[in-house]
Amino acid sequence: MKYAVLADVHANLAALEAVMKDIDHGKVDELWCLGDLVGYGPDPAECINLIRQYCSFCVAGNHDWAAAGKISTEYFNPEAAYAARWTTTKLAEDDIQYLAMLPLKINLENFSLVHGSPREPIWEYVLSTNVAEENLRFLETSCCFLGHSHVPLVFECQDSCTLRRFEVDVPLNLSVKRLFVNPGSVGQPRDRDTRASYAIFDNNTNQIVLYKVPYDISAVQRRMAAAALPRSLIERLKYGA
Ligand code: ZN
Repeated sequence: MKYAVLADVHANLAALEAVMKDIDHGKVDELWCLGDLVGYGPDPAECINLIRQYCSFCVAGNHDWAAAGKISTEYFNPEAAYAARWTTTKLAEDDIQYLAMLPLKINLENFSLVHGSPREPIWEYVLSTNVAEENLRFLETSCCFLGHSHVPLVFECQDSCTLRRFEVDVPLNLSVKRLFVNPGSVGQPRDRDTRASYAIFDNNTNQIVLYKVPYDISAVQRRMAAAALPRSLIERLKYGA
């Protein structure tokens, strides 16, 4: 089976559509979503609609629950908090219900899906081997797919964890037993690569491949400007940071 893993769409419809096109439905059996469907970008309802239609499993991100009014935005920076409030005004009650009902964690045989980390699914960033190691005792499956940092990363772990290189288009053999895998962000990458990021995992070959897809960034920036979303959020798409 082949699984496409998407994280941090952030209401960027053009990026999500480019990824969906790239995925090629005929070759992928399921789509999994790691949260933060909304927040920052100009098209929250449209992105929720696509994810609901095509993703078999989806977990909640901090921006999803903030837009649904389920968590406070007091720990958000002012721009993110503004975008969360703006997002809420653009959603129908049904969309808000959908975001509010997203689970924190999904366990699927050998895989778990979370937004942040197994220890703290909404808020924690797994960006270092230390944090990955601290999360090992909260890992209920052999492999955990996670998002939140918007940076593609693979941590391979036994008693301790090491950071593997996760290069675009290069199949990575997942030979060891315990892993944390971040496929990067569809809608707001922060690894200095402006393209939309996602990964495809094949459980027959036990390989995962990171893909990056270009899309029309300036069209999204124009839509954000028209919606009067914060300038810093518009600018950062240009830098992938
Ligand atoms: Zn995010």
